[in-house]
Amino acid sequence: MGTIRSIDPANGAELAAFEEDNAAVVEHKLAMAAAAVPLLSAAGWNARAAWMRTAADLLESEIETVSMLITKEMGKPIAQSRAEVAKSAHAMRFYADNAEQFLTGRTLENPGAVNASSAGTRFDPLGVILAVMPWNYPLWQVVRFAAPALMAGNAGVLKHASNVPQSAVYIGGLFTRAGFPEGSFSSLLISSRRVADVVRDPRVTAVTLTGSEGAGRSIAATAGDALKKVVLELGGSDPFIVMPSADIDAAVETAIKARMTNNGQACINAKRFIVQADIYDEFTRKFTERMSSLVIGDPSDPATEIGPLATESGRREIIELVEDARAKGANIIAADSDNERASGWYFTPTAVTGLTPEMRLWSEEAFGPVASLYQAADLNEALKIANGLEFGLGSAFWSTDTDEIDRAVRELQAGAVFVNGMTISYPELPFGGIKRSGYGRELSMEGIREFCNLKTVWVA
Ligand code: NAP
Repeated sequence: MGTIRSIDPANGAELAAFEEDNAAVVEHKLAMAAAAVPLLSAAGWNARAAWMRTAADLLESEIETVSMLITKEMGKPIAQSRAEVAKSAHAMRFYADNAEQFLTGRTLENPGAVNASSAGTRFDPLGVILAVMPWNYPLWQVVRFAAPALMAGNAGVLKHASNVPQSAVYIGGLFTRAGFPEGSFSSLLISSRRVADVVRDPRVTAVTLTGSEGAGRSIAATAGDALKKVVLELGGSDPFIVMPSADIDAAVETAIKARMTNNGQACINAKRFIVQADIYDEFTRKFTERMSSLVIGDPSDPATEIGPLATESGRREIIELVEDARAKGANIIAADSDNERASGWYFTPTAVTGLTPEMRLWSEEAFGPVASLYQAADLNEALKIANGLEFGLGSAFWSTDTDEIDRAVRELQAGAVFVNGMTISYPELPFGGIKRSGYGRELSMEGIREFCNLKTVWVA
């Protein structure tokens, strides 16, 4: 078995190392998960909600430790790690409060129409769900699956990204510490090569993956072969369109946040800024000025706004994307900062203009603090650029013209449109994509129903 390492991206130092789970340990965790399913069902709504609220309380009481763990392990600025922990606790309470209502079946008003004395639907748990998760929101990505899944009565096994084993161990133990039956939720410390075997295991009934297209294809193929339900939350290159009637200063401020949050490593970061020609120069000037004012540094310093990228390979990929664009004639505007560091996987926030379709940056996702700026003659061209890729996760549209807004909301090919704002995931709203950004939904009522059996009940 291999070793799974936790490395501090700010300086390359090893923080911790874990032996991979061997076959016997994986078998034990799967058996425990399967055994927990009937216990979760028998416990009922109130007990599950009480355990979920205890998990939220525990998380909040440990917020400083957990936030620092996330920051050290993947480089997120500490203020953002704290926000991630708080949001996760909020989501747990949201599902504790709302799961029963979201999963209330319906009763047919006129059962005689189907020759029954009563008829309707109910939502039953599917069983053990495998969650394969990325490192970029090491807690939130897991909670947005685990909280609804557990409240629905499912058990979960987590295969977390290999660079966040400390986060995996923490979240893997949280729910049983809060009172959930042993095995209800646990982390498998395994490499991605061993995921297919877990997908095929007969005790695993469904799979959810948040990650790259490649991982999505591989998992969907295995799950398809085994005829198991899959939800896929994949990459994106979200457009952020700005029209002349918008408040430009507010748009710039939000655009910086939308691109640079999480050191530019979020699936729903706005990545392509499509600006109408009349305001393009002003927007670009203000955007690059504001970009240069961002505080880059040690992510554990509360003043830091941009920390290092999470992995060395991620940094290399971003450099390659930008260098490819430069070589093909793009204009590269790096933030005016003294960011040369002896160690750590830092990348200076950068804006790119003059992009053309032969550049990789035109069509590939940039998972780092790199903003692509496009000039559009009018709304037609802006929508054409926005919809021109195979991604369809989130989108943002800035305008005060109601006709333009109506059209953009209708025509943007994405799982979400945020008007005069930025794409954010909320427990109260469904989240997911179309096209190569994936399928299925997480969060809200729609998300909790993904891993349920919608059972029709007919009584003579
Ligand atoms: P990744 O390489 O796909 O990793 C994600 C998870 O999948 C990790 O646990 C990884 O394990 C596992 N994995 C990778 N290849 C696999 C395979 N062939 N079979 C089974 N499991 C596999 O993704 P990443 O590069 O870390 O994360 C960034 C990507 O995730 C971006 O494209 C981003 O947009 C996307 N993302 C999407 C959302 C969303 O909600 N739509 C949210 C966040 C991120 P190992 O670490 O062991 O390889």
